[in-house]
Amino acid sequence: MIGPELKFKEQVVIVTGSSSGIGKACAIYFANQGAHVVVNYASNAEEGQKTLEEILANGGSAILVKADVSREDDVLALFRETVSTFGRLDVLVSNAGLQKDSPFMEMSLQQWQKVIDVNLTGMFLCCRAAARQFVAQEKEASEVSHSELAIGKIVMMSSVHDVIPWAGHVNYAASKGGVMMFMKSISQELAPHKIRVNSVSPGAIKTPINQEVWSDPEKYKGLLNLIPYKRIGTPQDVAKAVGWLASDDSDYVNGETLYIDGGMTLYPEFADNG
Ligand code: NAD
Repeated sequence: MIGPELKFKEQVVIVTGSSSGIGKACAIYFANQGAHVVVNYASNAEEGQKTLEEILANGGSAILVKADVSREDDVLALFRETVSTFGRLDVLVSNAGLQKDSPFMEMSLQQWQKVIDVNLTGMFLCCRAAARQFVAQEKEASEVSHSELAIGKIVMMSSVHDVIPWAGHVNYAASKGGVMMFMKSISQELAPHKIRVNSVSPGAIKTPINQEVWSDPEKYKGLLNLIPYKRIGTPQDVAKAVGWLASDDSDYVNGETLYIDGGMTLYPEFADNG
């Protein structure tokens, strides 16, 4: 029978920073595909609750867990709660991130440190916890799996600014450039364990992080000059790509960055021969 197939039926998925924007869209996407989803937020409990309620109202399965990804104790507690509730982990979407913008010469150490702590160290803490869990649960499994497929999947939320320099946002660009090498390096190290690690690098996606740009008609017009596809992306555009990278359909894809950017990385200023 031909019918809709739930790609993540009974899989357990953590999406960090899923109280808003891209993370929220990912959490809803995975829940709609049959997963048990761990919705995570750092401080905005009300928005986290809204994501949870939307999933439950759709008939999905989810819990809400508060954790600051830059704090080791919080991350360990997030993973403990996931496993104690759902028994295992199959996918980590390491999405939480923020910006603290400033001209370079005026940037404070605090602005620099906060972005590195959340966007890069948070990635380290969450990916390490996920990898440990994937390996531990595989060892504990009573039946030896004869599957050739990955035992766990990690998708990191990077940015086009892992390759496009960004004046006025050097802390952010440095953090995302770091994410790229971190992703490739742990992908190389974890592949023999049959853990797949990849990144998604969004261009301009309509979320609260860049509201200042898309809510101002002049700035929005300027933004479209950077996007050959001539539209801003949606959180759902990114969620569908994350879903593919976390699914068995991409089982032989490892250590890759998928740019979801309407062509922003295509040097649009050269479109008329430069
Ligand atoms: P957003 O502000 O809507 O969401 C950010 C999420 O991260 C929120 O849920 C927030 O609570 C969470 N978060 C922040 N600090 C946290 C912490 N310490 N611990 C746990 N969670 C924390 O922004 P978004 O656009 O949805 O951003 C999500 C990710 O996508 C980020 O990593 C961002 O860098 C990346 N990204 C966004 C765009 C874009 O255009 N929107 C482009 C490229 C990359």
